[in-house]
Amino acid sequence: MGYHDSVERSAEYLRLALPLMSKQAAALNPICYAVWYDYVSGRNAALKKRIDELTRDGSPLDDEATAELFHCHVAEVDEKLAQRVSQDFQKIMADVSKSAAEAGSDAGQFGNALEKWSADLAQATDADATNLAVLLGQTRQMQHSISSLKNRLDESQLEIDRLRQEVARARQESLADGLTGLTNRRGFDQALTDCLTAKDDSGHGPCLLITDIDHFKHINDSYGHLFGDKVLRAIAQVVKDSVKGRDTAARYGGEEFAILLPDTPIEGAQTLAEQIRTKVERCRIKRSGSENAIDAITISIGVTVHRAGEAAHEFIARADGALYHAKNQGRNRVAVAPAAA
Ligand code: GH3
Ligand code: MG
Ligand code: MG
Repeated sequence: MGYHDSVERSAEYLRLALPLMSKQAAALNPICYAVWYDYVSGRNAALKKRIDELTRDGSPLDDEATAELFHCHVAEVDEKLAQRVSQDFQKIMADVSKSAAEAGSDAGQFGNALEKWSADLAQATDADATNLAVLLGQTRQMQHSISSLKNRLDESQLEIDRLRQEVARARQESLADGLTGLTNRRGFDQALTDCLTAKDDSGHGPCLLITDIDHFKHINDSYGHLFGDKVLRAIAQVVKDSVKGRDTAARYGGEEFAILLPDTPIEGAQTLAEQIRTKVERCRIKRSGSENAIDAITISIGVTVHRAGEAAHEFIARADGALYHAKNQGRNRVAVAPAAA
């Protein structure tokens, strides 16, 4: 579900959401704002119905209830959107906090002016002096309220900062492969989409390498799955050490790795593929408790360069086709898919 409201409309939703949010017991964080934004915009009927049910008896929503509403009714918003909401919210909090600070400072100046004035009015009547004292007292009280509001807003802002860091860390973790530490399939798909979107057809590439371990089933069957995992980590390290800068190295499938090279011509991609193939062939991986390395492990690699206008899945399919070719040609080799149709 995307947010496409204009600045004016979203500002109106903000105006409506803030008083409702402040009536609840939950912290004023981006999750809370997303829930109440959806509520006041009327765009999420199921959420509205649920909130109305929960608050019918006048009880405020706490953190737990708000988080549950978010997960059940709002969480399908994509991550980028959630981050944008979080950033927008942080900006709003900063603006409100600044306004509160300014209001506090204005009230302080006003109080100081009153004090000076009362000192100047040495000849004031008793009634004047009493009125002035009341006014001064109220001004000081207002100043105090504004300053505690500002403290609360500052605390909320720290909380939002912490949440943002958590979201960034969780996002990072969700894009990494647990076994090898490389980017996972999801991260790769994202990197490829970003790369093809940014492509302007004026430079080299992008190129794509897909590697597959030769006879990996046999390695697992002969030495066990744990050793198979050790092999995967060793090859992942070779792949990781072979890329740089904007390249993306990913674990694409169980024993397949994909390497995306945004700024590389096909000749460079082929050379890199050959280097990776050779390095893997030269690896000597030992079984735990043994001094002797097992026979050389090899990989096959399919390489291709992106064709103008080609969709991501077609690009991948051609690299896969080249890999298939490398396997058919006898494995432990690099095959390049033709650049032109
Ligand atoms: P080919 O040369 O044709 O690629 O032969 P292959 O034996 O590698 O064939 P295939 O791709 O069919 O087999 C892949 C094997 O990889 C099967 C599966 O058990 C193993 N595998 C996939 N993921 C993992 C993993 O995470 N750890 C381990 N140890 N093995 C895995
Ligand atoms: Mg395979
Ligand atoms: Mg294989």
